[in-house]
Amino acid sequence: MTTILYMVIPCYNEELVIDETSKRLKEKYSQLIENEKISPKSRIVYVNDGSKDKTWEKIQEKHNEDSVFSGINLSRNRGHQNALLAGLMTVKAFCDCAISMDADLQDDIDTIDAMIEKFEDEACDIVYGVRDNRDTDTVFKRRTAGAFYKTMELLGSQSIPNHADFRLMSRRALEGLSQFPEENLFLRGLVPLVGYKSAVVYYKRGERFAGESKYPLKKMLSFAVDGITSTSATPMRFILWIGFFFFIFAIIGAIYIVGRHFIGAPDVSGWASTMIAIIGFGGLNLLAVGIIGEYIGKIFIEVKHRPRYIIEEFINQEENNKD
Ligand code: UDP
Ligand code: MG
Repeated sequence: MTTILYMVIPCYNEELVIDETSKRLKEKYSQLIENEKISPKSRIVYVNDGSKDKTWEKIQEKHNEDSVFSGINLSRNRGHQNALLAGLMTVKAFCDCAISMDADLQDDIDTIDAMIEKFEDEACDIVYGVRDNRDTDTVFKRRTAGAFYKTMELLGSQSIPNHADFRLMSRRALEGLSQFPEENLFLRGLVPLVGYKSAVVYYKRGERFAGESKYPLKKMLSFAVDGITSTSATPMRFILWIGFFFFIFAIIGAIYIVGRHFIGAPDVSGWASTMIAIIGFGGLNLLAVGIIGEYIGKIFIEVKHRPRYIIEEFINQEENNKD
């Protein structure tokens, strides 16, 4: 029995790239089916994440032309991570394994062979696609991404392969993932927690085929803060230790000053140092409150248990005519 592979591709305003992505994926599928690596029941599923352009129309068009293409239409824009999760959770009932990929062809389609191989021959449940270059990203993006993964590692939350949501997951790994109920999704941090045997395959990340990045600086920053605060409580502990250090320091300082007074040493008027202390501690306080607020905000959102996405429509032809 050959593997039923479902590709899951979140799309937000990607009308410019869907034709090319479909063409290349179709070629890859034909080749894999011919070599009996994957079953003809395999599908390519686009998840339309509330696009404002004609992305959904394009997806429907693809589905009507060829039953290998399926589509999921979300009720509104929920962001990359939620769209991806919506896709994965929907297809897990149909597939043996699913590969998630961006729509813009930055991920190398030929890596799929290596991923399938790891899944079939080495019985890996999770295969991470890790880019071995970032030449095509801007220097700024490379540096910030590098700093982010370093910070994650330093905070000791866990070591996460520096991958861009290009990965294969087996059906049971997807089942495992479905048991994580959190609202603040950071799949790159969650997937390693699922466990099972995993492997890494390296690939070269290319240029975006068309259109522009949907991750402007603002989104990247909030993605980084979410990533850190949803996988680790270390920043709060860090603040606690700084606070503790300054508290001890202040007590020693107070003893020193009182002591000087009693031995009759002249009192020095030190406005500058007083101001610095006030401003310094004020800043530290605000930082601490901010970090705590970040966690409380997360708790607030989690306890509401709102749905992470709502599926408006799912178009999928389960059986292929060829069977
Ligand atoms: N995306 C999405 N919803 C969003 C933003 C992005 O589904 O709100 C999709 C987008 O269509 C693409 C993938 O997420 O397939 C990655 O986005 P992009 O290529 O813009 O990110 P970058 O590669 O620049 O980090
Ligand atoms: Mg991209």
